Amino acid sequence: MTKTVFSKPFTQQEAIPDAGIEHAVAVLRSGRLHRYNTLGDETSETALLEQEFAAYMGQSYCLACTSGGYSLHIALKAAGIQPGEAVLSNAFTLAPVPGAIDNAGGKPVLVEIDHNYCIDLAHLETMMQQSKARFFMISHMRGHIADMTAVVALCEKYGVTLIEDCAHTMGAHWDGKRSGSFGKIACFSTQTYKHLNSGEGGFLTTNDDDIIARAIIYSGSYMLFERHGTVPEADVFTDIKLDTPNYSGRMDNLRAAILRAQLPGLDLNCARWNDRYRALQQRLAQNSRILLPQRPEPESYVGSSLQFRVADFDEQQVSAFIDGCATRGIELKWFGGVEPHGFTSRYDSWRYTGNTQQLPRTLEILATTFDLRIPLTFSINDMETIGGIIDEEVSEILS
Ligand SMILES: *Cc1c(COP(=O)(O)O)cnc(C)c1O
Repeated sequence: MTKTVFSKPFTQQEAIPDAGIEHAVAVLRSGRLHRYNTLGDETSETALLEQEFAAYMGQSYCLACTSGGYSLHIALKAAGIQPGEAVLSNAFTLAPVPGAIDNAGGKPVLVEIDHNYCIDLAHLETMMQQSKARFFMISHMRGHIADMTAVVALCEKYGVTLIEDCAHTMGAHWDGKRSGSFGKIACFSTQTYKHLNSGEGGFLTTNDDDIIARAIIYSGSYMLFERHGTVPEADVFTDIKLDTPNYSGRMDNLRAAILRAQLPGLDLNCARWNDRYRALQQRLAQNSRILLPQRPEPESYVGSSLQFRVADFDEQQVSAFIDGCATRGIELKWFGGVEPHGFTSRYDSWRYTGNTQQLPRTLEILATTFDLRIPLTFSINDMETIGGIIDEEVSEILS
């Protein structure tokens, strides 16, 4: 019997919609790429995008940035972090999160995750008590949303400022409220593999006047802050404009034009991701050795990737499984490795942070967790093919 091999690339996203291409070409023809380069009373593409994304989020303010990591960095600075301060975060996240904490002069204090890839609430409370941290940068890693009512209650109890990393939850909700509207600040990424694609890019959203004013000045507004898409009253800037340095990093008009054309299609794309996610989930559920995360009722997620565990695998079987899947065209990511690889790295490889915490539960979960992207270029049939291959490979190894 010849084995099915899947041949589509896991890194192929959909094309930018035609409207985005036309828009981008118009910006190129105009020559006015810089965010403050406008003619007469023209509003820049970047400012319009800020207005549109703030409206989408139901938040007062949005700052469009050069990357998600930049928005996380600026969020901490705008929230008032001081050098050497502790910042709580999930032990399972992507390298831009500890990187942003480091860039803001902070020290990551990591919190265990649970079997559904969410932050462990009991450990979070312990670490809030032990660290006395004033900031918690929650990472909704791979789109898994913790019980946000409980998270917010803990933050209030310990006087902790909540900053949400929504790189994987743009378009998602918890209990009917948008992910990114629970914290003081939310940060998003528009890097190619996220839910909107401008190559690189990000957003910071908030309802707080002082925070957005600081973020705007940090982003390199010079004294042109009134040209931003969403700005508080001028008097909010009286001191802030003199007390805040310029860390250039606002988005340019070209990327904003590309994103403006995608935003109206975001919710539809979220539904398309979920169709694919559910097809794969259902196929994998046919194998009882494959453990899928429970997705609680209040969570309305965007299934742009899928994680599963095979707890019965030992280390050698993990390697054999990844290799077996790769041979059949299935690109799995594994966060369990001691050596960082590709986009993946385990918390203990962020050596620059000086963090020496032991997080056995996270390590145990990651050791047998596999992660795969769900690009929208894959069909529902493709998801069934992928699920079938994974099912066969697991069964073969455990037979
Ligand atoms: C992508 C990502 C970010 C931000 O990444 P940028 O590449 O800087 O836009 C932050 N957190 C997580 C979990 C991510 O996956």
